[in-house]
Amino acid sequence: MASKKISHIAIVVEDIDDALTFWQEALDLKLEKITDVPEQEAMVAFLPLGDSEIELVQPTTQKSGLARYLQKRGPGLHHICLEVPNIQQSLERLRTHQVQLIDDEPRIAADGKRYAFIHPKSTFGVLIELYELPK
Ligand code: ZN
Repeated sequence: MASKKISHIAIVVEDIDDALTFWQEALDLKLEKITDVPEQEAMVAFLPLGDSEIELVQPTTQKSGLARYLQKRGPGLHHICLEVPNIQQSLERLRTHQVQLIDDEPRIAADGKRYAFIHPKSTFGVLIELYELPK
């Protein structure tokens, strides 16, 4: 049961309004909404693109993993999220391939989606998120 689509690509930014001058105004992508996501300690701008989305993520605290990532590396690609039909099966399969997981068990978001991150050490340098839609 492989992934059939990219759910979203997350880009960490210092200032969403600033980033929107490129993504929305210059590139002409449609801005769907900007939402506070307390569980991620971030504001997120959603820009739908085909079946996927670009997410501009601005940390709202200084101490989250995202904030530290931004402080260390500056703005840029944070992760790519693949939607999967069954996240437990995907994690099981990754374990049999000796892939290093950040989340051994899926985390559950406020909206019911289940997600887990794969360590960049095992993915050739890109943080990968897996995401299973709520049933
Ligand atoms: Zn994500």
